[in-house]
Amino acid sequence: MKYANNILETIGNTPLVKLNTLTAELPCLVLSKYETFNPGNSVKDRMALQMIEDAEASGILKPGGTIIEGTSGNTGMGLALAAVVKGYRMICVISDKQSKEKVDILKAVGSEVHVCPTDVAPNDPRSYYSTARRLATEIPNSWYVNQYDNPSNTKAHYLSTGPEIWKQTDGKVTHFVVGVGTGGTISGVGTYLKEQNPNIKVWGIDTYGSVFKKYHETGIFDENEIYPYVTEGIGEDILPKNVNFDIIDGFTKVTDKDAAVYTQRLAKEEGMFLGNSAGAAIKGLLQLKEHFTKDDVVVVLFHDHGSRYVGKMFNDDWMRGKGYID
Ligand code: PMP
Repeated sequence: MKYANNILETIGNTPLVKLNTLTAELPCLVLSKYETFNPGNSVKDRMALQMIEDAEASGILKPGGTIIEGTSGNTGMGLALAAVVKGYRMICVISDKQSKEKVDILKAVGSEVHVCPTDVAPNDPRSYYSTARRLATEIPNSWYVNQYDNPSNTKAHYLSTGPEIWKQTDGKVTHFVVGVGTGGTISGVGTYLKEQNPNIKVWGIDTYGSVFKKYHETGIFDENEIYPYVTEGIGEDILPKNVNFDIIDGFTKVTDKDAAVYTQRLAKEEGMFLGNSAGAAIKGLLQLKEHFTKDDVVVVLFHDHGSRYVGKMFNDDWMRGKGYID
């Protein structure tokens, strides 16, 4: 018999799937690393498990402990699954701009959820960063995960996602394109791929309202770049330690409207029912068109599943309300 001993053993080894319609105008092969096949329906299962296992190994996370994280949903899902299997209490602290589905899903897998205001500065005591830190000081035997600065986040992608992409493309990958939030995915995969072949180009997808692109180009943390935006999962108003700017060749920014419209197009034109950052990633990849030539193999990573966005990007009333469709 061949079976997994628990759901955590099914994390990783996701398929690589060719894009056919949306990328028809490009000269190269475009392959998507399709992360919704993970048990929590996102790439974040990989780093959630790595962060927990490293915390167990170092003794910061003890039996019967409480795991606390500020999360937009996917990391919380991965942590919650691992917490159930391993017997920990899980608390997710989330900002109020995240979709209601994400909150309900976290509760479904046994997590407690605290919802905090989005439009406050990160160091404001009401922000989800501050609330998560405060709870970790108040609750005994608790551990604040901090995916932004926790090196196990990048390590997970260096040890699993990167090697999988290298093997699945027989070492032929020439470009890696991916949305950037905490930076774990781009830094882990990008570092691994560049170690195998330093000519591989790594592109980050950013949003309008986030600091990454300007910081990468100028070294300036410009607060004027920070304003509220709709796109979920990518962009930041802080510089997480997990973003390794040295291995990133460039960023391109995608508008909220384009990210939402291309999230719908992936579903309707490729049969790929994916989250909002996948729409941003594929539109960003199309914006980079002049960087690709005939023999290139471009890998784009799709982070999460469309089911978490049925009330938003997959709801035409919501799309019309935002002015994204007629
Ligand atoms: N897309 C989605 C849907 C996410 O949840 C995240 C994580 N915030 C990202 C993209 C960005 O990935 P990373 O944090 O590894 O940069």
